[in-house]
Amino acid sequence: MVLDVSCPNFSQGSSWQSFSYIEPQPTHPCEPLMEEDPNPDSPKLYDLLQAATQKLYPSSSLSQLALVSRMLNIKMENNMSQRGYNQMMQLLKEDLPEDNMVLDSYYQTKKLVRSLGLPVEKIDCCESGCMFYWGDDEHLTYCTFCGHERYKRRVSSRKRKLVPYKKMYYFPLIPRLQRLYASPATAADMRWHHEHTKEDGVIRHPSDSEAWKHFNESHHFFVVEPRNVRLRLCTEGFQTFSQFGSKYSSWPVIVTPYNLPPGMCMKEAYMFLTIILPGPTNPKHKIDVFLQPLIKELTLLWETGVEVFDISKKQNFQLRAALMWTISDFPAYSTLSGWSTVGNLAYPYCMEETQSFRLKHGRKTSWFDCHRMFLDQNHPFRRDRKNFRKGKTVQRSSPPYRTEAELLNQICDLGIRKVTELDANEVNRRLCKSCGWKRKTSFGICLIGVLT
Ligand SMILES: [Zn+2]
Repeated sequence: MVLDVSCPNFSQGSSWQSFSYIEPQPTHPCEPLMEEDPNPDSPKLYDLLQAATQKLYPSSSLSQLALVSRMLNIKMENNMSQRGYNQMMQLLKEDLPEDNMVLDSYYQTKKLVRSLGLPVEKIDCCESGCMFYWGDDEHLTYCTFCGHERYKRRVSSRKRKLVPYKKMYYFPLIPRLQRLYASPATAADMRWHHEHTKEDGVIRHPSDSEAWKHFNESHHFFVVEPRNVRLRLCTEGFQTFSQFGSKYSSWPVIVTPYNLPPGMCMKEAYMFLTIILPGPTNPKHKIDVFLQPLIKELTLLWETGVEVFDISKKQNFQLRAALMWTISDFPAYSTLSGWSTVGNLAYPYCMEETQSFRLKHGRKTSWFDCHRMFLDQNHPFRRDRKNFRKGKTVQRSSPPYRTEAELLNQICDLGIRKVTELDANEVNRRLCKSCGWKRKTSFGICLIGVLT
């Protein structure tokens, strides 16, 4: 959760105007500093926060929101039932002074948390992961690809609630980015990547890297607003119920803003859990089905942006965001990019021009000589027969740079456009073994395009 309820700036004041904020400084000496009223949604947030951060009773050290957040944490960690939660809160309410503000039911607690505007969406999925019931398909009751039913059949007719075979959780990204600028604790730090002093030859933060500078040179419309957000995405499977023995695997997708200083951007509070992919198995090529809501939000943030109130400057501005990197291990890299990371073509830098060979005794594929292609033509390692692959020299130059358009054409020529069009076995049969692409994905062009 981005919002720090223990922050003194959020526990005082009666509206957005009374929240303390860092004195705005113009980014250029000639730039006039214009203060604005927040957009219509922001005052509601501050009013709700003000109501929630009131003391439980006059001499209490806890606010209503602090108690709620700690009790929800206790409920989750101990797998407490709603009935048990209600009984605990009712006992607490009886024991405290009469004018206390304890919420004595789980329903009221959820209502308070929901009103703070950080929603979670539960989206029903096909049991096989072919599609999910969202957008135009929200009212379907059968999978349009495999024909599987959406809901379980209930033996008892008393219970009217329909139970889906599978569902995923999605935590929208835009409200969280808006909170980063609504909180005085983080709003000014979101410009750190632009305002910090850079030292030549030292990389302390991704903003010091060549990839960041190349992005700035390529997208001027994005760079003119330093408050625009640069994101990275991370995903990996994990055993939900135990480390060993359990076969159930879930895939969380975590998005992190890189605008913040090094000491903040890798903290747990700023790693936004965005999607929890349901198990029990690795989604593999069907991961794109589950990424659709995130892709939709990222597209909106890139193309048009959303209006956000920056409390550190007291200004409304159009916030855009760009996904700069993905972080994963090599198997997950294949899942995200669509490029196979097994076999002779696993090395994504060289693609089809790889110099891989099979070890004589180990019978494993090795890319030992690939890196020598990237050296200068006169480098002594190219002619070294003793310390590298025995008796081999490397004369060829490195593979050419491939543009995004070339890669896109290469994938489109394969004839695969939908992840649900073919199952994994049919994909393998249909594609020739000399091609590493296995499908067209949302991130494939970005990942390989940046690498090559
Ligand atoms: Zn299906």
